[in-house]
Amino acid sequence: MAFTLSGDDACQITHPSPIPHPYWVAFSPSAAKLIQLNLAPSGLPSDPAWLELLAGNSLATSTHNFSNPIATAYSGHQFGVWAGQLGDGRAILLGEINGQELQLKGAGKTIYSRMGDGRAVLRSSIREFLCSEAMFSLGIPTTRALAIVGSELAVRRETLETAAVCSRIAPSFIRIGHFEHFASLQNIARLKELADLLIRDHYYDCLQHPDPYLELFKQICVRNAKLVAQWQAVGFCHGVLNSDNISALGLTMDYGPFGFLDQFEIDHICNHSDQGGRYAYHRQPQIMHWNMACLASGFLPLIEMTHGESKAQTMLRQALEEFPVAYAQSWQALFRQKLGLQTQDEQDVALIERLLQAMHDSKVDFTSFFRQLSQIEQGQAIDSISLRDHFIDRSLIDQWFADYLARLKAESSNDFTRAQLMNGINPKYILRNHLAQAAIDKAQQHDFSEIKVLLNLLSKPYDEQAEFDTYALPPPADLDKVEVSCSS
Ligand code: AMP
Ligand code: MG
Repeated sequence: MAFTLSGDDACQITHPSPIPHPYWVAFSPSAAKLIQLNLAPSGLPSDPAWLELLAGNSLATSTHNFSNPIATAYSGHQFGVWAGQLGDGRAILLGEINGQELQLKGAGKTIYSRMGDGRAVLRSSIREFLCSEAMFSLGIPTTRALAIVGSELAVRRETLETAAVCSRIAPSFIRIGHFEHFASLQNIARLKELADLLIRDHYYDCLQHPDPYLELFKQICVRNAKLVAQWQAVGFCHGVLNSDNISALGLTMDYGPFGFLDQFEIDHICNHSDQGGRYAYHRQPQIMHWNMACLASGFLPLIEMTHGESKAQTMLRQALEEFPVAYAQSWQALFRQKLGLQTQDEQDVALIERLLQAMHDSKVDFTSFFRQLSQIEQGQAIDSISLRDHFIDRSLIDQWFADYLARLKAESSNDFTRAQLMNGINPKYILRNHLAQAAIDKAQQHDFSEIKVLLNLLSKPYDEQAEFDTYALPPPADLDKVEVSCSS
């Protein structure tokens, strides 16, 4: 099993708590492939025991037996403040199949549940399920979602809701918070075990470096720098970038009050509970860097073992300084691709930033703007570019289009090839909040069809799928804004 730390300070054997009369709400055949699950023509597991397993009602199927399910201990910083021990308060790791960990979220209390009930509501499970699978299809590293199992079990949040269990799959669910946990306990032996486990299973090439732990730290930073650049490029806001929600593998994880940008607002706050805007869109890179600084303090005792305190601090500080560089490189590469630029020009960053500023000022829909930009033709007259109609300051955007067309001319690409490349990076379909909410509203009436529609649609986000054109539109202006908070 990938999580091989043992001992009371690291994890606790925890059996899921059963839910009455479980039923399938959603299932991802694509995620099922990761664990080589046999499916019936219905698209559901051919062995009916999987329903009971993924509900948390049994620990065995005809092919698998998960006799030692665990909840793991981690700590973390929440909203910039040290929160002490947290841990899997409602997640239970069943075990590993084919190098992938299978975890149930919302399967009942664990010793880390604190005041919580260990459950997840249907609403938040649908959001996590759909977004995990949508992110995967966008090409963004993420934990995966296998299924949602529903039940009539009542769960109290602001109102009474029903419980659901979302099964998640990842090579590892280890978080920055796991490092912070053992570092805060000054348990260096466990810290070392944790780093060794990550190197053994996920970062094997670190062993070829003179300082494997320092290299591990650097690689975790780089993965997360690239990840956050990918988020920015599709307008994804995570919502709760606490250090306990940051993956040691650089995966997007713990989907809660996330949101994709509709209108481009650089300081958009997707989490209704985030009043200060700590996790606003434009702050995500800086916050990820901050989380890597939390990780650095977790790594300090490991580096100190070979280099002593002062040198270890210098080495980690220097490694941390590489984060903004890695982030900027990825961000620039992605936004160049979004504009269809295949060469580099020193004015490109200014060109991108001027566009984003204009989009912000005019609140232009982020996803559809970039998607439609691929249709521009090199010799086109500026006043025939329909996208300019989305901007309030025409002369400003006209100047931008003129500069953009001039920049395209300096490249040798033809319009057709460029459009194809651009459509492969600028998705047509994203999981807009109002689309997820429509699926949730139906599901709460026991109609799960819209979840399936979205799962299929978002599995090909870069394809035209013309019959679904309306799903690519920004939310109707008269639709109440969907507010999402930490409540889940
Ligand atoms: P989150 O904000 O979902 O990342 O959760 C932060 C911490 O609270 C984690 O340790 C979770 O396991 C725990 N937690 C969140 N919701 C619940 C719940 N309903 N029951 C038990 N623990 C929870
Ligand atoms: Mg979490």
